[in-house]
Amino acid sequence: MRVEFHPTGIHLPDAGLWLDSIAPVAVNWISHAHSDHSRGGHGRIFASPETIRFLRLREDEQLLAGSAIEPMACDQPVELPTGAIITAKPAAHITGARQLLVEFRGERLVYTGDIKLQKPLLGAETEIVPCDHLIIESTFGLPVYRFLTREAAAERMVRFARECLDDGSIPVFLGYPLGRGQEVVHTLCEAGIPTAVHGAIARLIPAHEESGHRFRGWEPYDAANITGKAQVVTPSFRNTLEASGKPVRIAYVSGWAALDNARARSGAEELIPYSDHAGFEELLDIVDGTGARRVDVTHGYTETFARILRERRNLDARAALAGVHVEDD
Ligand SMILES: [Zn+2]
Repeated sequence: MRVEFHPTGIHLPDAGLWLDSIAPVAVNWISHAHSDHSRGGHGRIFASPETIRFLRLREDEQLLAGSAIEPMACDQPVELPTGAIITAKPAAHITGARQLLVEFRGERLVYTGDIKLQKPLLGAETEIVPCDHLIIESTFGLPVYRFLTREAAAERMVRFARECLDDGSIPVFLGYPLGRGQEVVHTLCEAGIPTAVHGAIARLIPAHEESGHRFRGWEPYDAANITGKAQVVTPSFRNTLEASGKPVRIAYVSGWAALDNARARSGAEELIPYSDHAGFEELLDIVDGTGARRVDVTHGYTETFARILRERRNLDARAALAGVHVEDD
């Protein structure tokens, strides 16, 4: 089946479907609710129920009002007018993230969207889906990127928070509003650590609770009362906390924390290399597991990762879209 890569998204003209188009199209699959993958304004939208919930919270209702919005449960195939069959499959990334299997005239294509293979702190576990043609991301597609398991990452977060609170300082965790932020809050709350949450992260907690995750005992961020509790804030809020004159200590929970120069780049004291994207070996394991002979690589180290697939795996692999993620890591 034909696949076209455009700056605004991926078009499957034979199947009659776009994948993560950020420009309005007739029929669009939305893999997850990070804004570099999801926008409204389409004729027909397929996505997981959780992704639709996040979209409704974020998007202008008017932008969604004109769309036929079709929630897709996993493993419930839907036939498009072209005869193509699409099936949602679990993807570990953020809550609600899904891969899409597209079957058309005997060919199986899988689009991963953003994905990791290790079990995430929140959200689904990835199912590796056998296919002929794989479209996969490579945000961290270099050997240097190896990430902690969720258990090891949680242990580091909790230990850092306790250390800070014991010595009278304030642990500050930087997290993006959708995904990492809630993972950190959930981890700290489960460990019984008093935790205050910035509004941009807090407003998406109820939507996570509707997906079955419980968040116990957190409180909203209060600038006048930050002592004695962990603070989970967006990266842009860090300066405000540092300017408070209080003894804050910064933790950086990110895939980029795997880099040697991360401490200098981030200025953070505690570096915890944990990501909602796959590290290098995980990416290879996903590719190997699918058995795909043709692989298109999007996002991040596309040229390098595609070359590695050609040289080490003898696959028909190519870099499809350049660019890096801006919203999540
Ligand atoms: Zn994402």
